[in-house]
This record gives sequence, C-alpha cells and structure tokens, in this order.
Amino acid sequence: MKTAIITTDTFLNHSTGLGHPERADRVSVIVDNLKKFKKQLIWKKPTKFDRKFLNITHNNKYVDMIESSFPKKGFSYLDGDTVISPGSKEATLDAVGSIITAIDGVQNKEFQNAFCAVRPPGHHAEKNKAMGFCIYNNVAVGAHYLIEKYKFNKIAIVDFDVHHGNGTQNIFHDNEKVLYISTHQYPYYPGTGTEQEKGKYNNIFNIPLPAGTTSEEYLNAYGFVLKKLKEFKPEFILFSAGFDAHKDDPLAQFQLKSKDFYDLTKRTLSLAKVFSKGKVVSILEGGYDLNALQESTEMHVRALVEFN
Ligand SMILES: [Zn+2]
Repeated sequence: MKTAIITTDTFLNHSTGLGHPERADRVSVIVDNLKKFKKQLIWKKPTKFDRKFLNITHNNKYVDMIESSFPKKGFSYLDGDTVISPGSKEATLDAVGSIITAIDGVQNKEFQNAFCAVRPPGHHAEKNKAMGFCIYNNVAVGAHYLIEKYKFNKIAIVDFDVHHGNGTQNIFHDNEKVLYISTHQYPYYPGTGTEQEKGKYNNIFNIPLPAGTTSEEYLNAYGFVLKKLKEFKPEFILFSAGFDAHKDDPLAQFQLKSKDFYDLTKRTLSLAKVFSKGKVVSILEGGYDLNALQESTEMHVRALVEFN
C-alpha cells in the first residue's frame, strides 16, 4: 500500500493578515515539495463529514459560536492571535475533513498511512475555546471519529509540536480510550504541560523539555514516548505533527534538525507495525520557518512512505 497526502487549496483563503506567522505559504511550500515523491503518494481531497463529530469534540454552543463568527469581509479575532477571515470557514472544515478522509482511507485499505497538509492547526483548541491559531481541534475530532465510527478502544495521539497541546489534553482529560503524549518546550506557551498533568486515567503523558533542547537530548526523551506507547499498545496512532521544534523556527527555542523528524517518525512506525498494523494518520500543526518546514515534512513523509 501507499502513503496518502490529504490536502486541498481552500487553506489559501484562510487569511490571517500580513505578518502573521500562521500563513498560507506554510502549506503551499509543503505541498509543492511533496510532489517530488511522484507515484509513491496518493493525493486526496478532504470529504464532507457529519457535523456530529465536531459536536462530540467541542460542544454545540462553541461550534455555533464559531460558525457565526466568520466575517463577511476583513478579519475577526477569536483570541489575541487566532484570526479568521471569510475564507476560514471552508478551510477549518476541510482541515477537520482531512483527518476523517485519512482515517477512512486507512480503514478501507485504500492506503497504509497518511499525512494531512492543512491549516488552520488544531492542538491548542479546547472543548470551548479557540486559541493559538487553532479553531477546531482536528486531531481530537479524528480520535473521536475512530471511537464512534470504527469502535476503537485504544488510540494514541503523539504530539511532537514544540508547544504543548493544551486543547487535546483538555478534550481527552477524562477519556481512557485516548492516550495523549506530548513533548514540548516548557516553561513556554501555552503554559500547560507539566508531568503532574496526567489525566483522569493516567492517559495524559507530558514530557516537558527546556529551551535549547538538542537533537540528542530530544531523541533521548522521545524514548519515553516509545516506552509509553509499548505499555499502551495503541490500535491506531495519530500524530499531531508540528515542526516548530526545528532549530530555525522563529517561534521556539529547540535545536532539532530536519532529519530528526525522520528518526522520530521511523521509531514510532516500528511500534505501529507491532500494535496497530501500521495504521498511522498524521496532521500538520505548527512550523513557521518555510525552509525548515519543507525539509522536515519531507523527512516525516519519507518515513511514512518507507513503511510501505
Ligand atoms: Zn507549535
């Protein structure tokens, strides 16, 4: 089987204003670069999905509030740095739809694994709160979809974005079917992510690391991610794939190199092979230096392709 890239061009119309780091170029450069994989990839567009999966993840009131917030022109602010424009409506739904399409494709054996090249990102979006460039929590909708539609009981979300996914932690705090594991810079935005935050069922596993963390230090710490995955034995693995831990990223202070994203993906996939029949879906979160983002996503996708 092959690896799929799920993307569509509606992200271009999710405008965040001049000088905003979470900008359309991010996904454009990724998509352009991945074309070099040619026949090794299947390209798919996100499909429409049942809104009930949004309402399980967030709540009705929040979803209604978001739906009525998209401006007819100009910009609206959902928080200090979460900006939406008229085109954001379609882009946010396609970002959620991409993970649904990816999961369906893996379940239908259309492809082995998938990477969703979409924006806006999702892991800071809480049950009732947009923040940190995130509106709907895409990966969380994916986990709920796996539980509701495919009756999975053990889903692992591995979040290697340099920021803690406070939103994903918030949404799954009381859900024993979902193990959320995050490596992140700490103390740092958004302020959460200590080792003491464990979730109701010990289903949250935070690995806070200091500013300046090097490749070697990071990959050592990633050993704890793998150890936790081995204990949990996930039936499906989702990646919250942020690439802002790269040394060139302007928004944080880790020192990872592009190749580190290949290594961490490879190591995770070797466990996916044992526990989840290689079922892995990854979705883009952060990453704000265009060159670093392009290289790092290529490394990540290369590892996904090599699994086949
Ligand atoms: Zn981030």
